[in-house]
Amino acid sequence: ARRNVLITGCSSGIGLALAVKMAKDEQKRFKVYATMRNLAKKEPLEEAAGHRLGKTLEIKQLDVCDEQSIKACVNSIPDRRIDVLGNNDSKFIFMEVFACCCLPFCAVSNAGMGLIGPIECQTIEEMKTVMDTNFFGLVRLLKEILPDMKRRKSGHIVIISSVMGIQVSNAGMGLIGPIECQTIEEMKTVMDTNFFGLVRLLKEILPDMKRRKSGHIVIISSVMGIQGILFNDVYAASKFAVEGFCESLAIQALKFKLQLSLIEPGPVVTEFERKVFEDGMKMDLSAADEETAEMFTNIYLKNYKQIFQSLGQSAEDVAEHTVKIILAENPPFRHQTNTLYTPMTTLKYADPNGDLPIDIFYKMVFQHDKIFSASLNFIKLLRWRSRKSFDLGKPSQ
Ligand code: NAD
Repeated sequence: ARRNVLITGCSSGIGLALAVKMAKDEQKRFKVYATMRNLAKKEPLEEAAGHRLGKTLEIKQLDVCDEQSIKACVNSIPDRRIDVLGNNDSKFIFMEVFACCCLPFCAVSNAGMGLIGPIECQTIEEMKTVMDTNFFGLVRLLKEILPDMKRRKSGHIVIISSVMGIQVSNAGMGLIGPIECQTIEEMKTVMDTNFFGLVRLLKEILPDMKRRKSGHIVIISSVMGIQGILFNDVYAASKFAVEGFCESLAIQALKFKLQLSLIEPGPVVTEFERKVFEDGMKMDLSAADEETAEMFTNIYLKNYKQIFQSLGQSAEDVAEHTVKIILAENPPFRHQTNTLYTPMTTLKYADPNGDLPIDIFYKMVFQHDKIFSASLNFIKLLRWRSRKSFDLGKPSQ
């Protein structure tokens, strides 16, 4: 039976690679609805799809920040069914780019509000109010007090979090740099794309899937949905948001026989990486103190390219992993695509206090600059030796 697949963000990178890989499936198991925000950017996808265009691949407009555009796209699919044959084993696949932010410091931030209930019955506005209070409330506070604490080199920020927020994230655009130099509006755009983009799509599609008691939601998250990284605070936050949301939803989904899978790549060499780096290079750092600006420019940006060269996967690699997950008989809830990165994310689970990964990252970045460079070279060697490193068992046919 042919499975219909909806993929967002297909004008470049992982979305494009996955759409093409699935459209070219020799057994013709998929009908791909490859969507993008701006159809003027469809040429590279058309070129890569070749004669599959109009056959196993159709291009549609979809902006994850626009509810009307999501509705129009889903309504344009016959019977809103992604399953062309009307059988019950169709799969929906959403490819999202989400950013997460894990703040490696805390303030006494306790103000918060809750929201429970099925997401179908909550408006995006209500959800945004929760995000504005619980997340941006903290960020606003930090933007105000962090520069003083840094100046004084003293301070302890304590955040009243929740066990529900421990290990979740996912996102579609990136943002790097000191938070003192980012506006709340810029941060909200990342959250709106990476987190609310996914929520909007799910609100539209979940009721159909529940009715059919069939569907598989695959989300491109990130290792930064598990672990925050220096100067990626807001991106990591958006990925954590995605992961928390999906972890909560997965329990309910099970009752409806729906599957959720989070794909968690490490660094991937795409437009994303290039654009984030360029924006970082152009960033106005005048709002940051000298030490922070220096740290961002001379440590973070200086090593950025090297990290992608050493650890980076290609979009095609990530697409290959994703297809394996889609075809797996029992797809896992989480799948990391880069085994070279796994030792880092494992640190998170090794210490419930959360200090271990923070200490290790600190030492790598600030105390062992040379060791850090040497380990990147070692990783290059390992990478060369272990290209074929994953096996998810026998995929279903
Ligand atoms: P990319 O920039 O090539 O692709 C992102 C796509 O999302 C683009 O086509 C962009 O146009 C689209 N997009 C942005 N806003 C949108 C909107 N409002 N509506 C619809 N589409 C929108 O980058 P990529 O590396 O292929 O990223 C794909 C996903 O992978 C992202 O979720 C990203 O967070 C995740 N990821 C990337 C990396 C990496 O290092 N590149 C690592 C881990 C996870």
